[in-house]
Amino acid sequence: MKGFSLVDEAGVGRIEGHCDFRCASTGLVAGSVALHSPAPPWNRYWVELSGFSLTGDLQQGIEPSSVELLREALRCGEVRTLWQYDRELAPFFCPECGLCYAASAWQAHPNSATSIDGICPAGHRRRLCAD
Ligand SMILES: [Zn+2]
Repeated sequence: MKGFSLVDEAGVGRIEGHCDFRCASTGLVAGSVALHSPAPPWNRYWVELSGFSLTGDLQQGIEPSSVELLREALRCGEVRTLWQYDRELAPFFCPECGLCYAASAWQAHPNSATSIDGICPAGHRRRLCAD
């Protein structure tokens, strides 16, 4: 895996799980989510969303009790599990279609500087990120 500068050879910040979620319309990567073992500045496991330009990249620490859930969801590509855990970690997912869409496939409707609604290609509206 390339592009993760926090990964070092001692295993600090090791990637414990990773999944590229593909866009149902374009076949391109709609977004990527990685689970990292504890590393500065995080003293606990953390997840990183990247590649979905409408909401931008996101990093957040996770509770120890959720590590196994997320690791398994990423291993199996279970985007709905990820979405249920935290909707902002899977902004590319339309729960009504059960499909992922790249940022270019969503019609974006900003509510404010940081809150965006999106409409998927099938016409379903969801909050992509909130204030
Ligand atoms: Zn949809």
